[in-house]
Amino acid sequence: ATEAPEYDVLFIGGGVAGYVGAIKSGQEGLKTACIEKRGALGGTCLNVGCIPSKSLLNNSHLYHQILHDTKKRGIEVGDVKLNLQQMMKAKDESVAGLTKGVEFLFKKNKVDYIKGTGSFVDEHTVAVNLVDGGEQHVRAKNIIIATGSESTPFPGLEIDEKKVITSTGAIALTEVPKKMTVIGGGIIGLEMASVWSRLGSEVTVVEFLGQIGGPGMDAEIAKQSQKILSKQGMKFKLNTKVTAGDASGNGVKLSVEAAKGGKEETLESDVVLVAIGRRPYTEGLGLENVGIELDERKRLIIDQEYRTKIPHIRVIGDCTFGPMLAHKAEEEAVAAVEYISKGHGHVNYAAIPSVMYTHPEVAWVGQNEAELKAQKINYKIGTFPFTANSRAKTNLETDGMVKFLSDAETDRILGVHIIGANAGEMIAEGTLAVEYGASSEDVARTCHAHPTLAEAFKEAAMATYSSAIHF
Ligand code: FAD
Ligand code: NAD
Repeated sequence: ATEAPEYDVLFIGGGVAGYVGAIKSGQEGLKTACIEKRGALGGTCLNVGCIPSKSLLNNSHLYHQILHDTKKRGIEVGDVKLNLQQMMKAKDESVAGLTKGVEFLFKKNKVDYIKGTGSFVDEHTVAVNLVDGGEQHVRAKNIIIATGSESTPFPGLEIDEKKVITSTGAIALTEVPKKMTVIGGGIIGLEMASVWSRLGSEVTVVEFLGQIGGPGMDAEIAKQSQKILSKQGMKFKLNTKVTAGDASGNGVKLSVEAAKGGKEETLESDVVLVAIGRRPYTEGLGLENVGIELDERKRLIIDQEYRTKIPHIRVIGDCTFGPMLAHKAEEEAVAAVEYISKGHGHVNYAAIPSVMYTHPEVAWVGQNEAELKAQKINYKIGTFPFTANSRAKTNLETDGMVKFLSDAETDRILGVHIIGANAGEMIAEGTLAVEYGASSEDVARTCHAHPTLAEAFKEAAMATYSSAIHF
């Protein structure tokens, strides 16, 4: 047999964590390879997550806006028709362009791309079951596990990606379902509910908790978001749990009841989206051959430098601790490589933004009110509504607000929460402020261009320690 090639760094998984790490590793002059089994680079994010969902969110929003939001702007449109096939094609083209782009970046940075499924043989050797057939052994001084996550199944409901779907089915439906029920009002649930509701589906979101948005979203913002999404036609059942499902007939029947117990009700729909969270994916990785441990939530256990108990085997991204976000995975990838090449790396877990790409968007960084209260931290609040922002007024996009939370004593920013048309872009400024340990006064005394939505950001900061000018 041929000798196994020896690398400085080997990545298992070519998602955002793995591919970003591999590029960085190549740039650091380390001999690098990345094993990916799906036949395309970019992982969940590029293939079936962030990217395709944002393509559909953008184009379904445009469609919905043309249908419902042009008259008052002085635009008369004729016959508006949905061409779902073309919308899906546009999505597929964005995905293909980006995943091919990553392949190009691998070549540019001399990263070997190994197409197949990786499985540990020993602490330095990984067997790859190649996509094109056959098996190859690869050896490396450092191995980084970046195998990502998969959607958590709902017990008793078998996923067929047609009638009972995960997000993967939800970005690929071939027709608009008449009725759709979404189990879970987290970010995936609400983004996908937005897409299909805009395209004409009657969508009901069933959420176990008393608020939508999943973990981290500020309660006041979540409430506003729910109100606006309801106006767009989405229906909500909060404090409600799904107890059983039956997909044996034409559509799908769900039994639901109040979370605290109560009368049972049956919801019938054509399609059910299961969006109750994601779980780490480590199947078939041969962890038992190296004795690496998982915690009770199946996350790979690591220390602060991403090392497992075998120090040259590290773990980054969705399959370990922390929020399951692409930009978090990316930060960890760069840091993990820098620990190898330089001995130090940096990720500030207190400054990782979250964005929900509904319309309006919701974005936040740092802590929310409930979290601060639980820690008994005294804080001040500064808010500014987009109704009082000149640019939002000219854009006829006045839904939403900016909310600052800062330390009552020092004025240091503890959290920024935004609901508004471009919240996802605007949160970058909040993240920078938190990263630099800014006070709300630092932000308010920074000149912001007029007329921009960002002025609402500045004025909310101002309202934290003084008064906003325009409200
Ligand atoms: P993954 O992207 O899951 O990549 C892991 C890769 O490893 C996969 O390609 C898998 O095939 C491969 N793999 C697994 N095991 C093996 C093996 N043994 N051998 C070889 N290869 C293997 N995050 C955001 O920040 N913003 C968003 O807007 C956003 N939208 C999302 C929308 C949806 C519908 C979903 C599902 C997720 C979304 N996310 C978003 C989350 C984001 O996709 C993940 O946080 C991100 O992909 C994590 O990257 P990762 O590299 O850790 O894992
Ligand atoms: P999530 O954890 O954000 O939300 C799941 C929701 O389902 C929660 O609100 C939970 O209370 C509810 N739930 C759980 N079991 C239920 C039940 N039996 N009945 C009713 N409700 C139930 O998970 P998600 O929305 O599936 O997203 C998974 C991951 O993907 C998250 O970590 C998320 O951050 C990430 N993601 C991010 C983005 C983005 O950044 N824009 C987009 C999509 C996904």
